Amino acid sequence: CGIVGYVGHQEAVPILIGGLAKLEYRGYDSAGVAIQQGQKITVRRSVGKLVNLQKSLQEKELSGMVGIGHTRWATHGKPSEQNAHPHRSKGCVLVHNGIIENYQPLKQQLEKEGYKFHSETDTEVVAHLIDKYLQAGQGLADAVRSATRDVRGSYALAVISEKEPGTLVAARSGCPLVVGRTKQASFVASDVMAMLAHTRDVTYLEEGDVAVVTQHEMHLTNADGQPVSRKVTKITWDA
Ligand code: GLU
Repeated sequence: CGIVGYVGHQEAVPILIGGLAKLEYRGYDSAGVAIQQGQKITVRRSVGKLVNLQKSLQEKELSGMVGIGHTRWATHGKPSEQNAHPHRSKGCVLVHNGIIENYQPLKQQLEKEGYKFHSETDTEVVAHLIDKYLQAGQGLADAVRSATRDVRGSYALAVISEKEPGTLVAARSGCPLVVGRTKQASFVASDVMAMLAHTRDVTYLEEGDVAVVTQHEMHLTNADGQPVSRKVTKITWDA
C-alpha cells in the first residue's frame, strides 16, 4: 500500500517512519522496515499501527543510512508479521505494492528449484526471483528487470541487496512510484507526500521504468535496460 526508501547520510529509521506516517491515511494492516548497515540488512515488522513498529524500534534500535519501509494492505495472505513487508530471499530484501497475478505457478516453480517460502503473500515470489537472478551472476538492477519480466500483474517495488550496499532499485508497473533527490540523499516513495519534508525535486516514474538510486545518483531505464530520461518536477504546494 505505502512504500518509502532512503539512501543518504542520515539515520534511515526516522526518515522512513516519518514518510510512512504521511501515507497512513491510505489505511494499512501492518508495517515494516529493512535497514542496511555495511552489507547486512535487518528486517523489522509489526502488525497493526505504525506506533507498534516504532515501539519495537525504540526497544531495539536499528542503525543504518540505507533502508526501505512499507505499510501493507493485505491482498494475499492474512495480516500477520510473517506476511508483512519487507520480504527477504537470502541477501535480497524488498517491499511491494500491488498484486502478482501469476504468483502461484511461479511459487511452484521456485519451490521445485529449492526456494522455501516464509509467507502466504504473492510478493514473496518476487524476492526469490530476484535472488535467483543474483545467484546467476546478474547485478541488482538487471536481476530486478529480469524478475519483472517473469511476473504479471501490478507492482511498485523497492529492492536492496547485501551484494550491492548503498544501491536501491525501484520499479513500477501499474502502481505509482516517485524518486526525490537532494545533494546528499535519494528518496523513493509511492506518494510524493512521503518525501516532501526532505525534498521538492522529484521525478515521477513512468510505466515500466526502473530507477537505480544511490546517495548521489539516479539512473533510469526502461524494462529492457535502455536509459530513459524523465523530467524533474518542482513541488511548490504544501501537504
Ligand atoms: N499483494 C501484496 C500483499 O498482499 C501487497 C499489498 C499492498 O499493496 O500493500 O502483501
